Amino acid sequence: RAEHTAKTLALSDVMTKACDYYRQQLRSADRAIQYLKGRGVTGEIAARFGLGYSPDAWDSLRSVFSDYQAPALAESGMVIDKSDDEGAHRKRYDRFRDRIMFPIRNTKGQVIGFGGRILDQGEPKYLNSPETPLYQKGLELYGLFEARQAIRDAGYVLVTEGYMDVVALAQLGFPQAVATLGTACTPTHVQKLLRQTDHVIFSFDGDSAGRRAARRALDACLSHVNDNKIIKFLFLPVEHDPDSFVRAYGADAFEQEVQNAMPLSQFFIKEVAGENDLSTAEGRAKTQFDAKPLLQQMAPSGLRLQLVRSLANITQSTPAEIESLFELAQPVAR
Ligand code: ATP
Ligand code: MN
Ligand code: MN
Ligand code: MN
Repeated sequence: RAEHTAKTLALSDVMTKACDYYRQQLRSADRAIQYLKGRGVTGEIAARFGLGYSPDAWDSLRSVFSDYQAPALAESGMVIDKSDDEGAHRKRYDRFRDRIMFPIRNTKGQVIGFGGRILDQGEPKYLNSPETPLYQKGLELYGLFEARQAIRDAGYVLVTEGYMDVVALAQLGFPQAVATLGTACTPTHVQKLLRQTDHVIFSFDGDSAGRRAARRALDACLSHVNDNKIIKFLFLPVEHDPDSFVRAYGADAFEQEVQNAMPLSQFFIKEVAGENDLSTAEGRAKTQFDAKPLLQQMAPSGLRLQLVRSLANITQSTPAEIESLFELAQPVAR
């Protein structure tokens, strides 16, 4: 045991070595190169993001790690241990096989996880590293390390859903983009973003999943937004995500979308009004009811005041009436 610990691989070394290996593999993987070319990804942008390729084999990482059975390999999530029926001995195999590899870096630039995309049709389309002591999904944002300077230069950050959105936007003139990676945007993500910039623009997919993601992002923002921050939501046509949109219509068209992004205050009203019929007392009451949990997360601020005013307006109330309503205990359904 003692001698084993002495040469134990650190988790971060495993990730770095795997990343270098996958990058190396991409150079001779014609299918993978063709796939990326087919999606318009240039070699230059692939290098910026350290894209790689995991070979179509069960144990290609054996050639990287002399001790393929090292505990750190399982801990890193780069291999999967599967016990046989008797649990007698472990069968270990590479998690990522025949996939385009997207290294996920932390803000220090260390590789802490991977996303892997299948080259053809198939399930799952993306495979992600599991959480490890290095990688916690609710904390990390794909592309933030690469985007940091660009965020400062642009004065805002674009928050997308996917790896390819970040890569395509960077290639076509928007290097200030990051992605939440399949997980909902958390308050911690928002906090992290607001440490980099005071202007955040969420740009999720135009489909219903993207709409839901925007709603969750709104919820995540309310506890952290203050009067120095601007948060906006960019809604794309239903059939597009930022990657497909910017490639189909170009940078100027996307820039137009950025300019026209909806301020949080407007999205808030749109969300709480929802399907409620504001021409009826019931619809206005329901709107106030739906707004309550959102406004209650907010510390007192000028923005909160403005949201309450807008809510009062559309519900034929006064801000004071709204506030007093919020102070009442919610009636319990019996
Ligand atoms: P592509 O353009 O490569 O087809 P996408 O990024 O547009 O992919 P979406 O289906 O919009 O894919 O999903 C957004 C993000 O959610 C992905 O980039 C990925 O991070 C994550 N994701 C999607 N599908 C899965 C999955 N099956 N398992 C885990 N994560 C996934
Ligand atoms: Mn989607
Ligand atoms: Mn896409
Ligand atoms: Mn998408």
